[in-house]
Formats: sequence, C-alpha cells, structure tokens
Amino acid sequence: MNIFEKVNAYVTAKAVAEHYGLSVRKNGMACCPFHNDKHPSMKIDSRYYCFGCGAKGDAIDYVARLYDLSQYDAALKIIADMGLQIKDGKSSVLSPSAISKIVEKKNQQRIEAKFKGWCLSAVNSLCKCRDTIKYIDEQLSTRYQGAVFDIPEISVLYHDKLVITYMLDILCTGTEEEKMELFIKGRREVSTIVERIDNVRAGFMAGSGGDHRQRNDYC
Ligand SMILES: [Zn+2]
Repeated sequence: MNIFEKVNAYVTAKAVAEHYGLSVRKNGMACCPFHNDKHPSMKIDSRYYCFGCGAKGDAIDYVARLYDLSQYDAALKIIADMGLQIKDGKSSVLSPSAISKIVEKKNQQRIEAKFKGWCLSAVNSLCKCRDTIKYIDEQLSTRYQGAVFDIPEISVLYHDKLVITYMLDILCTGTEEEKMELFIKGRREVSTIVERIDNVRAGFMAGSGGDHRQRNDYC
C-alpha cells in the first residue's frame, strides 16, 4: 500500500473536510468551499462531489485543492494534522513551499474573516453616525433654533456626512474589490469619523439640557 492508499484507508473525505472546518449536514451535503456556494451543493462521504462546480475526489484531493498542495504534501499534512499512525519511507516532513502555502492560505482566511466582520460593524457604526448628524441637524434647525451649542467644527460634521454617504454606498452596493480597498485604505478614517461623531453626540446630548426623552428616542 502506498501512502495515498494508506491515508484514504484511514480517513474519509468527510472526516478530513470536517477536520478543516467544513460543516456537513446529516444528509451528507455541505456548502462547497471551492466555489461561492450559498446552498449546500457538495455531497461528501468517503469521496466528495460538488453539483455546482464539479469538484470531486477523495480525502487527499480535498486537502490538495483546499491548500493548493501536491497530492504528496496533502497526504503528509493529513497525517500530521490528524495524528494518523502512518509511516512513509521517504519523508514525513512537509516541504518548505508546502508550509508557506499553508501559512499563506491561513493568513488569507484570517484577513477575509476580519474583512467581513469589519464591513458589518462599519455599516452599523456609519449608519448610527448618519442618524446622529441628521438628528442634530433637525434639532439645530427647528427645536433649538438660535440656541448656541458647544459643538466644535460643525462644518466638519457636514463634511463627515458626505464621506459617510460615500462609504455606505461602497459598503452596501459596491463590489468586493471596492469594499476591500476601503477596508485597506479607509479603515482608519472610518474609526476617526465614528469616534468624532460619538463625541459630538455626547456633547450635544449634554448641551441639550439633558433631554432624556429625546436621547432615549434616539438610542
Ligand atoms: Zn463547488
């Protein structure tokens, strides 16, 4: 038996896929990790087959494809990660290029997870900021007409409003590339704006004479 046969005799594609994070339903279906699969299209047991993109194979194929490794490195990775008692005469150590591919893949997954989380929280925070500006704007122009508030740089606030609209437009309707560009280049600006408007909100609420009804209505 060669190393490939040994690994496939020990583990199923399903066991390996679950080990690397795939969630498999009771009926043996899972969302395919090899294409953008919203509804489970992959049937997985001892082997896998995707009805969406046609990806198929055994446990070793799965890991080779998932981490972009050779069949041999994929077999070694399964043996190491799942603690299989399989000895291979030639080598039991992953090649440096295989290790760097695995590290790269893990980094990529971490960045993607961080990116998705950031997009969600940025939309929430920016919507809240937009509502705050709208609220302050309405209060200043109607209820508190003529009153003087301790709100520095009101023009900055209106500039922020334009930037927020632009950013929300990208986050809600932009392409993944546009969102990623904002994530990479605009993260700090989003934090700065959110922090500034949080401070303005606190200052305005304090300056409005502690109008709790309004504050609670808003929050
Ligand atoms: Zn697929």
